Amino acid sequence: MSMRLGLRGRFWLIVLAATLLCMILGLVGWQQQAAGMQQLARLSEESIHEAGVRSEQRRALAMAQLIADAMVNPLYYFDLSLIGEIARSALAQPEVAYVLIYDDDGRIVHDGSADISRFGQRMGDPLANVAITATTPRIQDDNGIIDAAVPIWLGQERIGGIRVGISMRAPALFEREAVTAVEARGVQLQRRMLGIAVTLMGGLLVLVFLTALLISRKLVRPVQRLARAAHRMAQGDYAVDWPLSQRGDEIGDLEDAFVRMGESVGRHDRDIRRLAFDDSLTGLPNRIAFRETLDTRVRMAERNGSEIALLFVDLDDFKRINDTLGHDAGDDVLMQLGARLRLAADKVGQGRAEMARFGGDEFIALLGGHDVRERATRLAQAFLAELRQPIEMDNQSIVLSASVGITLYPQDGLQAAALLKNADIAMYRAKLDGKNCFRFYTRDMDLAVERQMQMEQDLRLALQRNELSVLYQPIYSLAQGRIIGAEALVRWKHPQRGQIAPDQFIAVAEQTGQIDAIGHFVLRTACQDASTWPIRGAEAPIVSVNISARQLQGGNLPALVEQELRLSRLEAHRLHLELTETTMFSHEAEAIAASTRLRASGAKIWLDDFGTGFSGLSHLRRVPVDGVKIDRSFISDMLDDPDDLALTAAIIAMAHSLGVVVTAEGVETEGQYEALRQRGCDNVQGFWIGKPMTAADLVEQLLRG
Ligand code: C2E
Ligand code: MG
Ligand code: MG
Repeated sequence: MSMRLGLRGRFWLIVLAATLLCMILGLVGWQQQAAGMQQLARLSEESIHEAGVRSEQRRALAMAQLIADAMVNPLYYFDLSLIGEIARSALAQPEVAYVLIYDDDGRIVHDGSADISRFGQRMGDPLANVAITATTPRIQDDNGIIDAAVPIWLGQERIGGIRVGISMRAPALFEREAVTAVEARGVQLQRRMLGIAVTLMGGLLVLVFLTALLISRKLVRPVQRLARAAHRMAQGDYAVDWPLSQRGDEIGDLEDAFVRMGESVGRHDRDIRRLAFDDSLTGLPNRIAFRETLDTRVRMAERNGSEIALLFVDLDDFKRINDTLGHDAGDDVLMQLGARLRLAADKVGQGRAEMARFGGDEFIALLGGHDVRERATRLAQAFLAELRQPIEMDNQSIVLSASVGITLYPQDGLQAAALLKNADIAMYRAKLDGKNCFRFYTRDMDLAVERQMQMEQDLRLALQRNELSVLYQPIYSLAQGRIIGAEALVRWKHPQRGQIAPDQFIAVAEQTGQIDAIGHFVLRTACQDASTWPIRGAEAPIVSVNISARQLQGGNLPALVEQELRLSRLEAHRLHLELTETTMFSHEAEAIAASTRLRASGAKIWLDDFGTGFSGLSHLRRVPVDGVKIDRSFISDMLDDPDDLALTAAIIAMAHSLGVVVTAEGVETEGQYEALRQRGCDNVQGFWIGKPMTAADLVEQLLRG
């Protein structure tokens, strides 16, 4: 990531630069000021020096003038003792280095000493010449000595002169003191200036800092906050987290506008989400929304080390509601159920369970946290209990059930997709285990259920790929001693798995609804084949076709039967429809209505697998059927189990008393055949007579008689 200089960074950079500039300017000013001070010190030193020299000069001149005036007479009279006296008193003055009295030629008359050692000597020092020739007072200085020379006049005649030398040592000392004082003063001043400068600079810095802070707080920070909020909005979080501002300025306006924009965009987003993610019927989140929730929850669980239970709820036989009551009623039922499941989920999940409608009649629930296995069990039980409560619809009460598959994170899978698949598999298992129950996913379910699911998919293609065919198992009339027809039995030749028995795929086809298409195919094939079978003797051969419960529910079976009869030109009474006993009695009213309508078309109704439903013989009176088929299980045990033999005999007698034809299934031995014949059974069917065979083989059999 490249470094980005934000607003705040830039701002502080400018502040820093400004401060630095101020400091440099201050420093330069300070230096200038220091140099000025130095110059001032030097100037004052010079002027002090000059003033010192001047005053000493004046003093020297005054003293020399005074002595000169006093010397006129003594010099004229050459009174050495008076001259010496005056000279000595002058010498006694402080800082007077020498006093020289000389004659007109410049020869020393007196120097103030006792013996006048230099008497009569000519002055030879560097300043002497000027003094000797001077006609007016003269001032000279040399080597720290100020020399004042004054000529001594007597009238118009210069009789000599006097020189006073004053040492500059004391003035120099004083001068140094003065300069030091000035310098000290200067340093003091400079210090004070520095103090003021530092205070000013500090004040400036504090001011700059405070201004910067203020700007940062009032401008940069709000802008940054706006930027962050905008960034969050871009990521879909529209809640702006500051209250409506109290500021009356433009930034305040901007903030307020932002809050309002966030609210409005958020509202739109929620609307859009509701449209996209909620199921319009139940108001629950839909599949897409749930996928998102699941993903988030899995990630959350990953972080917290918590668990998830996924409950996949699939209503049992919901299609029946749609088929019998119509889709509006179906929607109504779904709506009520959705609300009820939601309530149950809220109660067990303590408001934290997620609930969604996953598809047509599928719901899904998610529990997070801990002990999810135990809580999922309770939730599944609550769901099933909830569904057991009847739904009132137009004076009808409908009772539904559901199959629930449960999978757990992380035990069963770590990925959302895997969890969904597991829950689906477990649900499927619950369906296979008889519906109206719940199953936890286990790994060994995969294989079995996956095979089933695979079969479902393959079955969908089976019809298109012409993998289905129909075989015919002969039915033999004991009274007539000949084959009177055959039962149509469907066969599926799977491209990879070979022959698949109907027991294995009919149940699957019933669950998925594919049985309608398969049943139609068998019906059409059977009718067409039977219409070509040879007629020998008085009666034409019959064909019996198995009808599963689901085919009855649609309500359009009678129409379909009539259509196929018409198309094949098969006489209606030659078509027998086999309904199982369980189909007939579990939805009795429905079944009676359907079979009545079917019989109206002329087809016969036979009750298949009779005896397995334990519905009792008395039920036979209530349902309008033309025949019963005693289940193979009775026939196979008949010779060993006296109860089965008795029951078989009772069924035959009872059926005959009701005018119903009896056919025995699964006759495999001559003994069974004989026993049935003796007890007056009408028809037999089974391997003893003939196994299921192709239509061509059956025709051959029929021709042979
Ligand atoms: P089902 O209607 O009771 O059919 C008789 C079954 O018993 C057939 O099995 C047949 O092959 C078998 N069977 C006949 N005689 C004997 C025998 O002597 N010994 C033994 N062990 N078995 C015998 P299949 O063809 O496997 O069909 C099984 C079931 O599948 C049928 O029972 C029927 O309920 C269902 N089914 C078959 N075809 C169709 C169909 O086209 N539609 C529907 N809805 N169900 C069908
Ligand atoms: Mg049958
Ligand atoms: Mg049967």
